Amino acid sequence: MTQTVLVLNSGSSSLKYQLVDPASGQSVAGGIVERIGESSGSATHQSGESETVRDAPVPDHGAALRLVLDLFDEVGPSLADAGITAVGHRVVHGGAVFTEPTLVDDDVVTAVRDLVPLAPLHNPAAVKGIEVARELLSHLPHVAVFDTAFFAPLPAAAATYALDRKVMAEHGIRRYGFHGTSHEFVSAAVADHPAVVAKLAAEGRGPETLRQVVLHLGNGASASAVLGGRPVETSMGFTPLEGLVMGTRPGDLDPGIVFHLVRTGMSASDVDTLLNKRSGLLGMSGVNDMREVRKLAGTGDADARLALAVYLHRLRKYVGAYAAVLGGIDVLTFTAGVGENDHRIRSGTVRDLKFLGLTIDPAANEARSDEARVVSAGSGSEKPLVMVVPTNEELAIARQAMELVEGS
Ligand code: AMP
Repeated sequence: MTQTVLVLNSGSSSLKYQLVDPASGQSVAGGIVERIGESSGSATHQSGESETVRDAPVPDHGAALRLVLDLFDEVGPSLADAGITAVGHRVVHGGAVFTEPTLVDDDVVTAVRDLVPLAPLHNPAAVKGIEVARELLSHLPHVAVFDTAFFAPLPAAAATYALDRKVMAEHGIRRYGFHGTSHEFVSAAVADHPAVVAKLAAEGRGPETLRQVVLHLGNGASASAVLGGRPVETSMGFTPLEGLVMGTRPGDLDPGIVFHLVRTGMSASDVDTLLNKRSGLLGMSGVNDMREVRKLAGTGDADARLALAVYLHRLRKYVGAYAAVLGGIDVLTFTAGVGENDHRIRSGTVRDLKFLGLTIDPAANEARSDEARVVSAGSGSEKPLVMVVPTNEELAIARQAMELVEGS
């Protein structure tokens, strides 16, 4: 019988879910409940080819999960017959405590709650999601999978900020990194790809020498440098604010800007909102979706064109820096919404990086596909590859949850 995992991703006002078969990698059904806690809510449930939309207020995460369970009951597939082995929860921040997928018990819930000061925007929703799911699906094991876990082994030189060591110890300040589930999934898929295996074989090198840069470019965006499967650098830091330009976050920023804004009258919470919700592409161009930025830039809008230039400049800077960290690049990979779909971002990043051997084959780059693929030009085993690899965080969570439950 098929075994599945119900993957839950609880946001502050949304609940995303997917029923995944980890063995085949297929998503059986899934959807999203949006605008939780607002006066009007809605749920969109997808099962096979059919999509069902329910519009109704959803007061809290408990009501959201109840609505999801009702939709499975009414529209299918039946959860009772789905062979669910575990519920996998995406948790953004695992702090220094959680470096592995973890079977949830009361102590784990308390520990995730204790991490709320480190991730005030993200962990409260995860706690709520876990609590209601443990109540409504009490017969199933629940597994928490942490977005920070993959980056726990970052070398100390990369993980440490040059701050007062006592302040860092007291406040748990270090580079945690985020999007770890995606960086782990994508870098593993790259290492297994036939073109990469062939490249290493042709060069007589083992997989432990593979030098990868992964660019996760979605609404949030982050870069990682991975050596032989282990992370050695990543662009997000103590919070998901640092690094690349994102949909609504600025990425790297002089902290002096924050003091200046506070000293000249902006409250700390307004600065928080500015940096998390009103910056990045949105702040610079007025829209946060890359497709909209492109449309505006196409009409000659100067702000949108500058936003694109800043976005690409930051990307090139990071690839160059990570090439230095790794001592060269074997594979540069694009993933997530922008990385998988926007060929101009890919070619724009690689342009001017020929000195690293990076190239783009325009036809391969512009061809649409859902498959992991090579988009660099030429062959020659010494040349680095440029790849596009679709990320699948739900599948990664489902696999990790299943592995933990099966092994326990
Ligand atoms: P994610 O966070 O990975 O779901 O990515 C979402 C983002 O991907 C959206 O906000 C868009 O900016 C971007 N995106 C999705 N499709 C496209 C596309 N065809 N071209 C450019 N950007 C896209």
